[in-house]
Amino acid sequence: MELTDSVWEIIKTNSNVLDGKVWYGVKSTKIFCKPSCPSRIPNKSNVLLFTNPDDPVKCGFRPCKRCQPINEVVSDEIWVAEINHILENYYDQNLTLAELAILAHGSISHLRHVYQSKTGISPSEKLMQIRMDKARILLLNSNRSISNIGNDVGIPNNSYFIKIFKKIYGITPHQYRAKRPN
Ligand SMILES: [Zn+2]
Repeated sequence: MELTDSVWEIIKTNSNVLDGKVWYGVKSTKIFCKPSCPSRIPNKSNVLLFTNPDDPVKCGFRPCKRCQPINEVVSDEIWVAEINHILENYYDQNLTLAELAILAHGSISHLRHVYQSKTGISPSEKLMQIRMDKARILLLNSNRSISNIGNDVGIPNNSYFIKIFKKIYGITPHQYRAKRPN
């Protein structure tokens, strides 16, 4: 089904006239919703339409916790997987907890609580782990400068980037790079 102006209008206005007939997935978050979902309006270019709720699932989308598009309660485990997917996609941006909560279709306090209780770490700690892991890979496999790499992984403040890197790996990014085999 094509994303026509009239369908897009229905999604934008959270109308329920297509509920049960159409589902939409957001490519950047891999979450799918009913047209009436009150979550933030996604970027139109990121939206895919489905006329069978099995299709988004087959394409790797997960149901939205808020509108429960297949009328099943979304488990905390699935929600944590959704949050991780978003972190993996947005790590290079200045992602606040509030922004993450909007993208993951939940409240900030609930998100923090569920994530911490299921994984033992906070969403911010997980984000930092992802950033440091990406930085490590760039240090080993690219010739980008340390400050560019910090920026690439969402930490434009270079001294902060170096400090966090050292805290996690015990050595500075320079030292880490110097260890790579030539
Ligand atoms: Zn939704």
